[in-house]
Amino acid sequence: MARVAFLGLGVMGYPMAGHLKNGGGHDVTVYNRTAAKAEAWVAQHGGALGRTPAEAAAGKEFIFACVGNDNDLRQVTLGPDGAFHAMTSGAVFIDNTTASAEVARELSAEAGKLGFGALDAPVSGGQAGAENGALTVMVGGAEADFEKARPVIAAYAKMVGLMGPAGSGQLTKMINQICIAGLVQGLAEGIHFGKQAGLDIEKVIDVISKGAAGSWQMENRSKTMNAGKYDFGFAVDWMRKDLGIVLDEADRNGAKLPVTALVDQFYKDVQGMGGRRWDTSSLLARLEK
Ligand code: NAP
Repeated sequence: MARVAFLGLGVMGYPMAGHLKNGGGHDVTVYNRTAAKAEAWVAQHGGALGRTPAEAAAGKEFIFACVGNDNDLRQVTLGPDGAFHAMTSGAVFIDNTTASAEVARELSAEAGKLGFGALDAPVSGGQAGAENGALTVMVGGAEADFEKARPVIAAYAKMVGLMGPAGSGQLTKMINQICIAGLVQGLAEGIHFGKQAGLDIEKVIDVISKGAAGSWQMENRSKTMNAGKYDFGFAVDWMRKDLGIVLDEADRNGAKLPVTALVDQFYKDVQGMGGRRWDTSSLLARLEK
């Protein structure tokens, strides 16, 4: 049993912290900017409440965060009441936010100066993965910190991999999002074409999903897309944040991402249609406009 803090009890963080407490059996202290959520978490799971990130982090061995973006992350770590002011030598900071590789390297360097470890550890698997404790975790950082944290991370993960030094977890998550973007557009175009051609889409998917066109997105989203339902998880606003991070990084490393850049603009159209909170499969709605 480890002494753990969890900062950020959103769609992802709330159940992840729950798995650390219940599945992992750890001693968990939570912090959330909107205190009511942290109070609800403590009422549901027990554990303790920190009124600031620093208060939650004080005396803990592992400090997890899952907030929105780079700036949110800087605020909960380096801000006036940030966790880094309270963390002590030998502790490990584990960041589950999807953020830039740059901020991961910045926090790792800062942690190094202060004498504790930092891992960037973004996740894949969505809300369902968080609720079922079955996330994929892509980690960047030092091997010794990774080995210390791995058994604790295991409470909410089905797959945990160390990808390389600080920033490598975020770079891996970027590849994850690049692969998803083009794939979802292809699936949307296939369904759109099938409808225009007057075919039974469910029948089409039943057959082609067993062949070379099959994918997680096809298995899990094609039926809901065909029904025009777009409230199944990862929101378009979050995807645009992620693709922005990807395209910035590609500017730096020279990678050519023509399809990713195009799909990012398609998601911008979806936002303009009122779909900011729709899930990422809503690319079909844009084609049907
Ligand atoms: P969410 O439900 O919007 O939760 C965001 C959390 O961050 C909330 O607890 C929020 O506090 C906190 N927060 C935001 N800005 C903050 C700040 N400046 N200071 C302190 N706390 C702050 O988001 P989510 O869906 O859990 O996603 C969290 C991260 O995981 C994002 O980076 C997202 O891209 C990534 N992710 C999400 C999914 C998914 O399917 N949802 C999948 C993989 C990865 P309040 O309660 O006060 O707003």
